[in-house]
Amino acid sequence: MSRVAYVNGRYVPHNDAMVHVEDRGYQFADGVYEVAAVIRGRLIDEEPHLDRLDRSLRELRIAAPMARPALKVVMREVVRRNRLKTGLLYLQVTRGVARRDHPFPKNAAPALVVTAKRLGLPGQKAIEDGVKIITIPDVRWERCDIKTIALLPNVLGKQQAREAGAFEAWQVRDGMVTEGTSTNAWIITQDGELVTREASHAILNGITRLTILKLAEREGLKFVERSFSVDEARRAREAFISSATSFVTPVTQVDQQVIGNGKAGSFTLRLRQAYEAYTAGEGATA
Ligand code: PLP
Repeated sequence: MSRVAYVNGRYVPHNDAMVHVEDRGYQFADGVYEVAAVIRGRLIDEEPHLDRLDRSLRELRIAAPMARPALKVVMREVVRRNRLKTGLLYLQVTRGVARRDHPFPKNAAPALVVTAKRLGLPGQKAIEDGVKIITIPDVRWERCDIKTIALLPNVLGKQQAREAGAFEAWQVRDGMVTEGTSTNAWIITQDGELVTREASHAILNGITRLTILKLAEREGLKFVERSFSVDEARRAREAFISSATSFVTPVTQVDQQVIGNGKAGSFTLRLRQAYEAYTAGEGATA
């Protein structure tokens, strides 16, 4: 089945999906994006993703490309035309096409692209084995809360992880872990407390992160939002990463340090289960 993309008002075959060379996203990374999971053909946490998109647009003073109800129609249509059951929906809004010049253009309309991608979910063994993390300096700008398409440090960090045989790199500022290059970072301390960094300009406030906090509260688990150091992460009982497409993925090694017994911990697996139940129920929209 061939893929279909939405590009500025038209549904086109994915291979023909093009934007202009003077799109400001292409030239300045002057744009924002969202990634939402699609499970069983249904979008997960659609409203929170759209709320965050609105916030990112507001922060950068980019106009919304269309009203939310219309955008939802486009999103569903992309899912439908791609017959997407398990995967992700990618949405990108840039400040539009204009003659190259740094200041905001006067008359450019925001440009919208929506694409879909199929993904397989990891099997039980991969989940139980967990993933390896390396730690790297956080060299990003000071507004990591905005989901901009300017991802060069994240790209370089992820590549560094892959070259080190790791799945993800945790970025570190002043000795404290901020977040992964495309995921939020979590630990469970030796006292059994779930810890993730508080939302601020230093991290992207993950939609999955927010859902996990809600689920943890509902399940009566002990949790706190605060910074943690690399050293604390290496001494943690358990660790995991979260994102729209990795859900709750156990971490079993941080740099050279094996976490726990080198297998996914029970706290993490419980949260993953709770998250999976959420995606099968209230987290999914028709
Ligand atoms: N942090 C960064 C830097 C990300 O790029 C992402 C997702 O792409 C996340 C965290 C997780 O956010 P979400 O749970 O909304 O996917």
